[in-house]
Amino acid sequence: MDFTMSPEQELWKQTVREFAEQELEPIARKIDEEWHRIPDEIIDKMADLGIFGITIPEEYGGCAVPGEEMQYAVITIHELARGELSMSVPVYTLLCIGWPMIMVQHGTEEAKEEILPKVASGEWFFGINTTEPGGGSDLAAIKTVATKDTGDSWIVNGEKAYISGVREATERGGGHATLFLTKPELGYKGSTFAYFPAQAEGTSHTVYSDMGRMGLSTGGFVYKDVEIPKKYILGEENKGFYTNMEGFNVARAVVSAACLGGAEKCLDISRDYTKQRILFGRPLMNFEAISFEMVDDKAELEMLKLMLMRGAWLIDEYYKDKSKVDFHDINRTIAMCKCYAPMLGVRVARNGMMYHGGFGYTKDTPLEMSMRGTMSYVVGAEGGHHVMKIIMGRDFFGDEAVPYRGSQDGH
Ligand SMILES: Cc1cc2nc3c(=O)[nH]c(=O)nc-3n(C[C@H](O)[C@H](O)[C@H](O)COP(=O)(O)OP(=O)(O)OC[C@H]3O[C@@H](n4cnc5c(N)ncnc54)[C@H](O)[C@@H]3O)c2cc1C
Repeated sequence: MDFTMSPEQELWKQTVREFAEQELEPIARKIDEEWHRIPDEIIDKMADLGIFGITIPEEYGGCAVPGEEMQYAVITIHELARGELSMSVPVYTLLCIGWPMIMVQHGTEEAKEEILPKVASGEWFFGINTTEPGGGSDLAAIKTVATKDTGDSWIVNGEKAYISGVREATERGGGHATLFLTKPELGYKGSTFAYFPAQAEGTSHTVYSDMGRMGLSTGGFVYKDVEIPKKYILGEENKGFYTNMEGFNVARAVVSAACLGGAEKCLDISRDYTKQRILFGRPLMNFEAISFEMVDDKAELEMLKLMLMRGAWLIDEYYKDKSKVDFHDINRTIAMCKCYAPMLGVRVARNGMMYHGGFGYTKDTPLEMSMRGTMSYVVGAEGGHHVMKIIMGRDFFGDEAVPYRGSQDGH
């Protein structure tokens, strides 16, 4: 058993932390309120550092450390989230480093050569495209369908909703790993997972007006006779649901890292404030109603971080040798992280607003921005809070105790 990061991981963590403090912290509020997008030069600088290549092998333009991809991904996102509390940059990045891992594992050689170098260089966006208007949490109810199979490609019709990065992928280039039906009569057991270029002819998108995470768009796609070449398949035809679920474990790990990084920073901000705010003749931190609550939050943060690092390590071990890791252990561990990390993030930000009093209700602290951004991961994105409990329940009680038809954890 070894709970320490390697010297190389420590060095990477420091590098990303310095970048986030120097380059992201000063512009987080502008991203959230004025620009409503991440500046291109920030994406270029992140690409130069190697951030977008952290899970992509060298042969496809990345700089992944073989066998430690998930650990590096979690470290990276945690540090970015400390610096950019609106959550725009961490979420943009976690999508672009999480889903390519699934292409590395399950994509065709042609697709990897075409797409991964563009993602590693920061040029293209790479997201996930599962949710539909009629079946959010109930992913098995999707309706987007290949209406024709030409042999080399599918002709797809349908609609997706609440998708992160619709504008970014359409404008910059790139696309989304997408779940759709190829044998509709079999329901989700007849679904396929494939990369859909956002600029494919017949694709249109809308952008929603969100309450937070304003630098990264959320919206919907409509597909009208869109031709998707079969070279873009991820995994096997008609087994896409399971590849999608495998990807969710990767994505939920980095989502948890984002929530924990933001929570850590909010707690630091509150600690600094309560040390210097004098009330009733002493610093606010000396009132145990406040300090006990803060150390409770700190303890929970550390517990979750430890569990997340184990989850990241499990995923890395799984990709090294699938026979040595119990997939249920990954499901269980990552679902627990994704269940609690966003709730903790929102709670720490809200508690911090309370400690700041009236000041906490202003935009002069980034706490409210963090709360708005993190809330996206409580309600949804990579499976909402209750869906994580369904996965945890199935694991704890067994399949028969939680009547659920198979969504979200791949079983
Ligand atoms: C900001 C943001 C970004 C997103 N980005 C993406 C993306 O990039 N790609 C993508 O595919 N999707 C994305 N989503 C969609 C997200 O995954 C869905 O919002 C989520 O799956 C929930 O679906 P829904 O919104 O339709 O809510 P519903 O499924 O209608 O759920 C409504 C409520 O019921 C709860 N609930 C559901 N089932 C149960 C149950 N069995 N028991 C108890 N409670 C239950 C849910 O937790 C939720 O609170 C994003 C969402 C948000 C908010």
